[in-house]
Amino acid sequence: MPLRNRQRLTAVGTDLLPGDLLTKLKGIGPKGAAEMAAEDIRSVLDLLLHLPRRYEDRTRLTRLDGRLEPGSRVLLRGRVNGIKVRRIPRRRMLIVDGFIDDGRGNLKVVWFNQRWIHRRLADEPELYFFGQVREARGGSLELVNPEIEEVGDEAERIVPVYRRLGRFGGRRLRRLIEQCVPAAARCRDPIPEAIRERFGLPSLHDTLRELHAPNVPENEKERESVMIQLNNARSIHHQRLAFDELLAFACVMVSRRVRRAASEARAIDASIVDGERIRELLPFELTSAQQRVLSEISTDLGSGEPMARLVQGDVGSGKTVVAALAMLMALESGYQVAFMAPTELLAEQHARTFSALLTAAGHTSHQLMSSLPVAEQRRVRDGLGDGTVRLVVGTHALFQESVTFRNLGLVVVDEQHRFGVGQRQALAKKGRTPHLLVMTATPIPRSLALTVYGDLDLSIIDDMPPGRRPVRTHLRFEGARSKVFDFIRTEIESGGRVFVVYPIIDASEEIEAAALTEHEDEVRAALPGVDVEALHGRLDRAQRETAISRFRDGSVQVLLATTVVEVGVDVPEASVMVIESAQRFGLSQLHQLRGRVGRGDRQAWCILMADDGLREDARHRLEVVCESNDGFEIAEADLEFRGPGELTGTRQWGPAGFRFANLSRDRDLINLTRDLAKDFAASGDLDRLLEALGAYLRVDIGWAGD
Ligand code: ADP
Ligand code: MG
Repeated sequence: MPLRNRQRLTAVGTDLLPGDLLTKLKGIGPKGAAEMAAEDIRSVLDLLLHLPRRYEDRTRLTRLDGRLEPGSRVLLRGRVNGIKVRRIPRRRMLIVDGFIDDGRGNLKVVWFNQRWIHRRLADEPELYFFGQVREARGGSLELVNPEIEEVGDEAERIVPVYRRLGRFGGRRLRRLIEQCVPAAARCRDPIPEAIRERFGLPSLHDTLRELHAPNVPENEKERESVMIQLNNARSIHHQRLAFDELLAFACVMVSRRVRRAASEARAIDASIVDGERIRELLPFELTSAQQRVLSEISTDLGSGEPMARLVQGDVGSGKTVVAALAMLMALESGYQVAFMAPTELLAEQHARTFSALLTAAGHTSHQLMSSLPVAEQRRVRDGLGDGTVRLVVGTHALFQESVTFRNLGLVVVDEQHRFGVGQRQALAKKGRTPHLLVMTATPIPRSLALTVYGDLDLSIIDDMPPGRRPVRTHLRFEGARSKVFDFIRTEIESGGRVFVVYPIIDASEEIEAAALTEHEDEVRAALPGVDVEALHGRLDRAQRETAISRFRDGSVQVLLATTVVEVGVDVPEASVMVIESAQRFGLSQLHQLRGRVGRGDRQAWCILMADDGLREDARHRLEVVCESNDGFEIAEADLEFRGPGELTGTRQWGPAGFRFANLSRDRDLINLTRDLAKDFAASGDLDRLLEALGAYLRVDIGWAGD
């Protein structure tokens, strides 16, 4: 294998260390270093971890005697003849043009606003030019703003292309990083060799060098496949960094669990709420999955170690009921209970649900959220402090510094994915390690759950209360709109109620999507005699409550809403869910929205409205939702289609977000690194490994703590 890139790399930077400051590099001063620092790049190692965005194959020289394809990227070698420099002061423009002559043919070349280029062109007899061929007005071909390289320099090799950092882009940034590459040899490898061998992973040194200066085979076929791997971040060297990152994350998760298990918790006697008691309180039997999950929770509560459990279950599977019973166990053992919801709307809804169940059991629930009158908030806070308020339902307001609890025993968090890990921990700090129960109705594939909720135990409610008829879902296009209105009218005549959900409130120039306020009149006009109300985040608390209660009691039959109704709004008579511009939503989100109907005895329908020009792949996505009612299956599909960031509605995966790992692509690595972290914990080496990984990936070990 020829070593195309190596020779020149050893020429510079040989005395650098990975931890050296950037000002040690040639070509960067204090100003440049400050700009880099603003991008969080402070050392030679940081710069080495700034991976190329893509790689360009500049190994093949194009000759000008053949045909050039407009749009293709070419490498030429030759000189520029007929250089002309023109200034257009009015447009503050400088144009340099001429003709590249490679001895076999000519190609027009143009540079815009490159002040010194004509001098370089004049000085050098022969240069490399790399750029894109484009068709000029009149049909002739030209090369615009090509990069130039001196002969014997960078050309005829694979060239890494980086995302710009401050003033450093293109060749200049490449030059800086090249100087750093030799320092990779002095990186201490955090992964022991035995483990690298076991998983067939390259050393960190090889990894960093190969990612910045890939050594590619001469053979064209092989080279092409290497290029594809590099450009899709699938090379073994990319894998190595993803491995390290996921391992660091797994270590943090495992260490949190270890620490949690070591801290003491208040023992809650679950047997107070026995089968007989449950039958008294509930008008129905728990499903077998609900029973199983409740007994998992009971065991945790009584164990003396703090519980940290995630309950996953599809919309309507009965999670809230299970949570309420767990809350009852804590209350009857004499502890305070806090329930947190992501929005006020949800908190209100839940407060109502709990009141119904827990008031019957003799407990009063209080609310704490920022829209309540200040005096009311103070009253609840005081009560939490002196222990007279035992059960509180609220939003982020529960995190305020000023909120203290007398003896908080259990925290329940609904719809975890909208809360950051930090927030969850802030609340956990409010008591002496209270038990923690997290509920989510956005089922996510198991491998992902292990990562995102890696420090939690997992319980799954995988059946549904009896008698539920699956919602029937159809995809409809603009042309069918009047038929959809006919259908809505018939449903309402027979006692049904209808949600229409829009992705945005007001029309926007940036987003092409149906807007609630824009469609309101149309809906009212199409449904004479029907009462229509709007519900969205811009309304105040009172207006929202009115809208929902009017929809609940039937004085309003159509509720136009945004995704504020996504979770929690529970109206058994609601039987139709129309989702406008359905292509704008994630599949799991559509499934969530659909879960708002079919909660009663009526057959329920979901109509996904899509624009006529819907693309084929978007249509396939929506069809998944039409064909499946299984949240886990839909989540898998969502993951395939859109990637993990979209899936949870937040890009923040793990406290720091992942730089190298891709949770969809690296699913196997997730399980593998988790097992490995457990091995390290068992042998007592976890902290040392975490420190080594943390030092180089610069993950903030702070999030390992409680
Ligand atoms: P989730 O929180 O999972 O969306 P909920 O706990 O809100 O589900 O339950 C949805 C609806 O089903 C509620 O009206 C609830 O009273 C009812 N429900 C829950 N469990 C059962 C059950 N085992 N049998 C019958 N109905 C149930
Ligand atoms: Mg619920």
